[in-house]
Amino acid sequence: MTETKKPVLRFAPSPTGMLHIGGARTALFNWLYARHTGGTFLLRIEDTDRERSTPEAVAAILGGLEWMGLDWDGQTVYQFARAGRHREVAEQLLSQGKAYRCFASAEELEEMRNKARAEGKPPRYDGRWRDRDPNEAPAGAPFVIRLRAPQTGETIVHDVVQGDVRFGNDQLDDMVLLRSDGTPTYMLAVVVDDFDMGVTHVIRGDDHLNNAARQLQIIRAMGWPEPIYGHLPLIHGPDGAKLSKRHGALAVEAYRDMGYLPETMRNYLLRLGWSHGDDEIIPTAQAIEWFNLENIGRSPARLDFKKLDNLNAHYIRSLDDRVLAEMIARTRALSPTAMTRLVAAMPGLKERAKTMVELGEAAEFLFTDGPRELDEAARKNIAPETIARVLPKLEATDWTAPALEAAARAFADAEGIKLGQVAQPLRAALTGKAASPPLFDMMAVLGREESLVRLRAYAK
Ligand code: GLU
Repeated sequence: MTETKKPVLRFAPSPTGMLHIGGARTALFNWLYARHTGGTFLLRIEDTDRERSTPEAVAAILGGLEWMGLDWDGQTVYQFARAGRHREVAEQLLSQGKAYRCFASAEELEEMRNKARAEGKPPRYDGRWRDRDPNEAPAGAPFVIRLRAPQTGETIVHDVVQGDVRFGNDQLDDMVLLRSDGTPTYMLAVVVDDFDMGVTHVIRGDDHLNNAARQLQIIRAMGWPEPIYGHLPLIHGPDGAKLSKRHGALAVEAYRDMGYLPETMRNYLLRLGWSHGDDEIIPTAQAIEWFNLENIGRSPARLDFKKLDNLNAHYIRSLDDRVLAEMIARTRALSPTAMTRLVAAMPGLKERAKTMVELGEAAEFLFTDGPRELDEAARKNIAPETIARVLPKLEATDWTAPALEAAARAFADAEGIKLGQVAQPLRAALTGKAASPPLFDMMAVLGREESLVRLRAYAK
């Protein structure tokens, strides 16, 4: 029996800031494909840029992935720690004649750039040390190691998302693999790490598509297996422009703080660039079952905050009452009474909340005892005389939602007014707001004594 090799995927963030939603989507797609195929999902922190990489950013990225529920397999790989291995590969290419030492000085390179610019061409290294004997260089002169890249023909990236993308080799110059201080370039590091990690699929943002051509040249020079590439179109703002800060929050952390659930984010980010017919609600288990590379979209996906809210409302509703209450309890100190009320009120509360922040705010009236302060809308609804007149009727009934409702209805009928004209003042006094879960349920949740304290405070 031949064993087919399971896919190995990776997420390879540069730790220079928060985990952005674009990065989170890349991670998600890789994770989903690994989980769908029973493959492996690896994490590599590309911390070779020592100036811009920070431990805080590493922590933020790991925290963001954990919060998103995107667990990775095995140890996290740190790219900088592997510089020795990268150097080794550069030297191997050098000894095989597939790379060469280039002694071009900074001034020479500057000259090449200026010349190219004057001719309206992209800046390219002109290959002046490609065939020159290194002995011609001044003794001890610094050098870089460059790939002896093919100069004619094409490098074709067979991309599962973009199709075949062709690059004329005359447009790709001999890239630097090792700098004069012996540090590897990013291009070399990525290729070596992907090979050593056994990566079979490289799924990442399409801002890396050009890099793929260069990386393929190194891979071919080494005779290594070529990964399957998939370059995801970037995410755009609701207006169709490239995503930027002015479109709103970009960091995954910010979405968490705004009260979005991880399940929501997974569903939402999945739909930003991947589709399964018209399905919008795709819980993670279903996503793992369905995810494939074929259905990745070819055009940039647009953020749609309304969709995000709808999904979040859906996932909030589908969570267990106690689980939701415990999530709220993590954001503020709640007494046992408050907690009991919160769980009891949750069926009504969760029907109305688009975010966990909203849910917590809507439940505020359950957390402390005594008369409520009225917000502006509640102030408009308060009617002390009505409250004073209905109070004795309520006091005389059983303190259950149906009995309280029946009493309020009977009162409204007798007065020749609508139920709402009784209910709104009661709600205002009870919750301090103009909107709440079903009023009589809330009266039952608060209990007779606490409800009466609040109502009496506004009865005249
Ligand atoms: N480190 C790169 C980035 O953060 C990703 C490189 C790759 O996926 O090959 O954009």
